[in-house]
Amino acid sequence: MKTAQLLNYERDRWIAGDGSLAELPSAIDGSPVALTGSGGLDFGGMLAHAREVGGPALRRMTFHERARMVKALGLAIMARKEELYELNYLTGCTRKDGWIDIEGGAGTLFSFSSKARRELPDAHVLLDGQLEGLSKQGSFVGQHIFTPLQGAAVHINAFNFPVWGMLEKLAPTLIAGVPAIVKPASATAYLTEAAFKIMIDAGVLPPGSVQLIVGSVGDLFEHLTGQDVVSFTGSAHTASKLKSHPTVMRESVRFVAEQDSLNASVLGPDAAPGTPEFDLFVREVATEMTVKAGQKCTAIRRAMAPAAYLDAVEQALGERLARTKVGDPRSDDTRMGALVSVSQRDDVIEKIRQLEVAGARIVAGDPNAEAAVKGGAFLQPVLLRADDPWTTDAVHDCEPFGPVSTIMPYNDLGDAVALANRGRGSLCLSLFTHSPDAARDFVLGAGAYHGRMLVIDRTNAAESTGHGSPLPVLTHGGPGRAGGGEEMGGMRGVKHYMQRTAIQSSPAIIAAITSQYMPGAPKHEVEVHPFRRKMSELAIGDTLKTASRTVAIADIEHFAEFTGDKFYAHMDEEAAKASPIFEGRVAHGYLILSFAAGLFVDPAPGPVYANTGLENLRFLTPLYPGDSMRVELTVKSKSIRDEEKGEVRWAVYVLNQKDEVVATYDLLTMNQP
Ligand code: NAP
Repeated sequence: MKTAQLLNYERDRWIAGDGSLAELPSAIDGSPVALTGSGGLDFGGMLAHAREVGGPALRRMTFHERARMVKALGLAIMARKEELYELNYLTGCTRKDGWIDIEGGAGTLFSFSSKARRELPDAHVLLDGQLEGLSKQGSFVGQHIFTPLQGAAVHINAFNFPVWGMLEKLAPTLIAGVPAIVKPASATAYLTEAAFKIMIDAGVLPPGSVQLIVGSVGDLFEHLTGQDVVSFTGSAHTASKLKSHPTVMRESVRFVAEQDSLNASVLGPDAAPGTPEFDLFVREVATEMTVKAGQKCTAIRRAMAPAAYLDAVEQALGERLARTKVGDPRSDDTRMGALVSVSQRDDVIEKIRQLEVAGARIVAGDPNAEAAVKGGAFLQPVLLRADDPWTTDAVHDCEPFGPVSTIMPYNDLGDAVALANRGRGSLCLSLFTHSPDAARDFVLGAGAYHGRMLVIDRTNAAESTGHGSPLPVLTHGGPGRAGGGEEMGGMRGVKHYMQRTAIQSSPAIIAAITSQYMPGAPKHEVEVHPFRRKMSELAIGDTLKTASRTVAIADIEHFAEFTGDKFYAHMDEEAAKASPIFEGRVAHGYLILSFAAGLFVDPAPGPVYANTGLENLRFLTPLYPGDSMRVELTVKSKSIRDEEKGEVRWAVYVLNQKDEVVATYDLLTMNQP
């Protein structure tokens, strides 16, 4: 049977590469799966198409519209996930491994989508921080904003997560409003291509918003500009080659790099054999060695234990690994499948040899054991031991990207910190301890060297997401050797694809630019109460000015009796006067809030369904008995959630009879769109 050829997606068309094609073998038995190549593509044209067609289309959409699109992509992947699981086996992965890649990838889209709809405005501009006053009268102010870059994001991915690796980058990129060109690693590009096709078939992506290269990137890098971003995942070697490309350097192209990393796991000094933390540590190290046959950038390569417990660790880990059934990933009883290719397996065997030459010795597993299936890329999990990790440099430097880990002793916590940091920067580190002091000292000593740190003990292990799982809401990346990049981290990831600009102007101009009311911007006093208006009928700046009411001493005493809040400042004239803040008894802040609601609320059922919260509350001027108060309620921003509801953010100012601001806050209400 003829081997199928993978297709590139260039300028909204599926195109077979011409010229020389590479044959991609199955990890299970080496038989051909697909041919791949990108010869003949117009790489400069692809970038231009992204910039001229994809970017403008995405930028016309709001953050929320793009987030809903990202959710639709996740739903499309989930609806056809079985097609992907079939291909997943050919990469050597079990179904459980594939779950992380396929459903974990779709889950990342869902997580980004819902977080974006909760945390970003339904608008085109993202604010960064508060308005900065730059003048005495307040007519000249500053505001940092983010807008989408106007180039393309070039995503270069590693072979080990052909689906998740693409989706975790696409989610923040598309939500930011930037088109992407995806270049998967060739070894597993057939799985990426299938997932990409599902997304195109979903019909929700605007033209030019995504393109795919299955093969070399040709002269693409020559055409990059300072509006483009390269987001790379793979080896340090390739990263440094691409980072130092003359065009990348000349144009200051943003370059996000996630590289290899010698991640460590540390058994705490308190975690003696027999403690829950000891057992949890052994289980985690064994899991990280065998999930995806250890081909995870976050896998534990170095496992450190107090010298006195190292023998016990070796024994317990050895027993656990011996129970791991290695075999055809399609079999139900297989616990660990194959590596991605025979050449990858041979590379891992060579790295094991280098570790042995450097002084480590194998204490479990046989790298030369016969393959579980003839022609397949199988390897038993191999545990090494380095008794002198201070002189065995290779254990902190050489990354066998497979089911391999090295155990090593430490003398005290400071020693463990120093050893962990010898990896020169890692993606993640786990510490197994039940001692808060050990956890604090360790994190203070090692935090600067690691992108993510887990402290696991008996109280959180059952719910822990595990050492090796990057999560969409947390940053993934690490300093130094790990690449110095950072991905995901919720909306932090979106900002990698946007430009921060400091805008200096009047509040009115800044309100117009950001579609948000700003203090000092014009307010439009409305005749119809805004609670009687649907969101579509409310304009930013619409303002209700209420009548005023006087706050009497009897109100304060009534409130104190009613609620039980008899704090001295409300009840004891002498004590209040003696304080450095008050001139006498003052109204409760909560009384002011309650009276404020009494002044601005329009009670009948209508387009405002509910009050969902207050934010940024500040009491600025005390309100004394006999003072009066009134409220100005201004529409600050609007954000539609779905067809039935949306959120209105109101700027609330409570003012006294001298127009001094008594209190200010953002009121949130759930409204009819
Ligand atoms: P790799 O050889 O560096 O390849 C990574 C990607 O770069 C692939 O898509 C590859 O495409 C592409 N590439 C290679 N040379 C290129 C060039 N001259 N121009 C443009 N693209 C080029 O790494 P790998 O072997 O696939 O992945 C394993 C490594 O990735 C391990 O070291 C692992 O630690 C690291 N990794 C890191 C993370 C992380 O998040 N930090 C995640 C996963 C893996 P081809 O396949 O077509 O050559």
